[in-house]
Amino acid sequence: MATNRVYNFSAGPSMLPEWVLERASSEMLCYGSSGQSVMEMSHRSSAFEQIIGDCEASLRRALSIPEGYRVLFLQGGASSQFAMVPLNLLTRSGKADYVITGQWAKKAWQQGRVYGECRVVASSEDRTYSYIPQVDPAQLDPAADYLHICYNNTIYGTTFSPRTLPVSGSVPLVADMSSSILSEPVDISRFGLIYAGAQKNMGPAGLTVVIIREDLIGHAMEKTPIMFDYKTHAGAGSMYNTPPTYAIYICKLVLDWLQGPMGGLEQMAQRNREKAELLYDYLDQSRLFSPTVQGEDRSLMNVPFVTGDPALDAAFVKEAEQAGLVNLKGHRSVGGMRASIYNAMPIEGVKKLVAFMQAFESDHR
Ligand SMILES: *Cc1c(COP(=O)(O)O)cnc(C)c1O
Repeated sequence: MATNRVYNFSAGPSMLPEWVLERASSEMLCYGSSGQSVMEMSHRSSAFEQIIGDCEASLRRALSIPEGYRVLFLQGGASSQFAMVPLNLLTRSGKADYVITGQWAKKAWQQGRVYGECRVVASSEDRTYSYIPQVDPAQLDPAADYLHICYNNTIYGTTFSPRTLPVSGSVPLVADMSSSILSEPVDISRFGLIYAGAQKNMGPAGLTVVIIREDLIGHAMEKTPIMFDYKTHAGAGSMYNTPPTYAIYICKLVLDWLQGPMGGLEQMAQRNREKAELLYDYLDQSRLFSPTVQGEDRSLMNVPFVTGDPALDAAFVKEAEQAGLVNLKGHRSVGGMRASIYNAMPIEGVKKLVAFMQAFESDHR
């Protein structure tokens, strides 16, 4: 890593691969033979059409997105999807089920309720969202327009897995994957719709990716704003209006990196497991730091931990920052610390963090 750069453990926006930043930097003034920066380029130019086409093809390859799904490049963040999903999908029975595993899931539910009958079918709020609640299939409404989950809970450090994923039968499963997309392979065919803000694992803020099964497009509520109708964007190749061109270009570079030097999604997942294991193994035997999540619900991407003493937590965060390990402060609702170790966090960064924690522990015990 460049010597003046820090290891940034922020939950988002987060680190980007240096490979990507260097590439973007070398193409900043002149992209290919275009004589201009991607930022200055018409979104209708053939050079940009190539970029967005490559980005989609590359994402399809990385995630093995099957036929019958559309990929949309939108704006408005994952938070806009909290409204866009019900506006487009909550139109047959007007009922939907939500699993509440944290603040993002709750915000999605609160927004959904504006548009229809949105039920909470399971929640882990009773223990500060420190686990993934069991979803009893008998509790699910077979007539619901969708079942909504937040796949990886960025604030609390819990994640669904193929094993704990609710089985929703013919009810489309909708997942907020903002903080886990591209961290490991997922079976897209289990989902009706997946959405993700790009700023955790895919690129810079400003781009939101939606992967949607084709049959779910075209049923929006009557007064849905044109910009909030999936059909608008699906029908225009995400070019109904100006898409976030530069963010799409960086996303394409991130995918080039993932499938080039990183060796693909399977390899990426292996590295992510190694990184998370380093940190959890240390936390599990530490006598100063405790992880806030136990067992199989542990996220590979966001790892919260506490000392139990807020003053000591604050001292840790401050000293870590001085050592070039930044943004380790936990979310206020959990307290303590949180290390977000997305795809672009090198294993060296996690090793450095663990070594720093060991030294801090021997100084404060
Ligand atoms: C960051 C995050 C959001 C919010 O994303 P915006 O793009 O800022 O709207 C929503 N859900 C999850 C799981 C997140 O991690």
